[in-house]
Amino acid sequence: KGAITFENVQFAYDPARPILKGISFTVPEGKTVAVVGPSGAGKSTISRLLYRFYDVQGGAIRIDGQDVREVTQNSLRAVIGMVPQDTVLFNDTIAYNIRYGRPGASDAEIEAAAEIAQIDRSIRDLPQGYNTMVGERGLKLSGGEKQRVAIARTVLKAPPILILDEATSALDTTTEQEIQAALDIVSKNRTTLVIAHRLSTVIGADEIIVLRAGEIAERGTHAELLAQN
Ligand code: ADP
Ligand code: ADP
Repeated sequence: KGAITFENVQFAYDPARPILKGISFTVPEGKTVAVVGPSGAGKSTISRLLYRFYDVQGGAIRIDGQDVREVTQNSLRAVIGMVPQDTVLFNDTIAYNIRYGRPGASDAEIEAAAEIAQIDRSIRDLPQGYNTMVGERGLKLSGGEKQRVAIARTVLKAPPILILDEATSALDTTTEQEIQAALDIVSKNRTTLVIAHRLSTVIGADEIIVLRAGEIAERGTHAELLAQN
């Protein structure tokens, strides 16, 4: 489940300035498609349209053939997991923040998700009072730790579709590699749309789409794109 199709998608925040000028691509069920391109090309707009922060103004986005405009936002968001660039956490325990991915989850399931996301034991099990942001015992999580919490949340939610919107862009190189390894595990066999600005970070994608000024400039596997350039 979860095949995504963008059909001639058009969108502008300001009618005088088109951002997406008729974009078509498919993310087949269980596959990973990456959208790369320079800043301002419209990459994040693609993820916002799929998540329905906005609706398309021309064309359509379908999931398993159904137009996303025919799906309520709640049921759409139930099937999509999103890992943004900067994860915003609740000022509460790590476990509370992970449980947000699926409120009915048991402690054992949260523990398993934290393990897969490789959240450090020293912060994982701290009780109420050791919260993620403020207070005497504020944990002051690093960017990488916050992304691990977002990943654990996604593991718990286990959505058929995953959006990784610059999920490692704010991290230093070493942390980026560690978080990328965790993301690779989560995205395996899951329909995944990756937004990234560098080609080198999406080598394993089944297809890479290069977006420039709201249009698809090039597409192919990493090897194919390298051969063209
Ligand atoms: P990218 O992710 O490739 O950097 P975005 O999709 O975020 O690009 O943005 C594409 C263009 O749309 C940019 O020029 C940006 O300034 C503009 N834009 C993004 N969000 C908004 C918004 N909420 N209102 C107006 N313009 C926006
Ligand atoms: P909703 O309550 O509207 O269903 P959620 O708040 O549950 O959406 O968000 C689901 C996931 O999407 C969370 O992991 C959250 O971090 C992420 N998310 C929510 N809003 C945004 C946003 N504006 N930008 C990026 N990611 C977001």
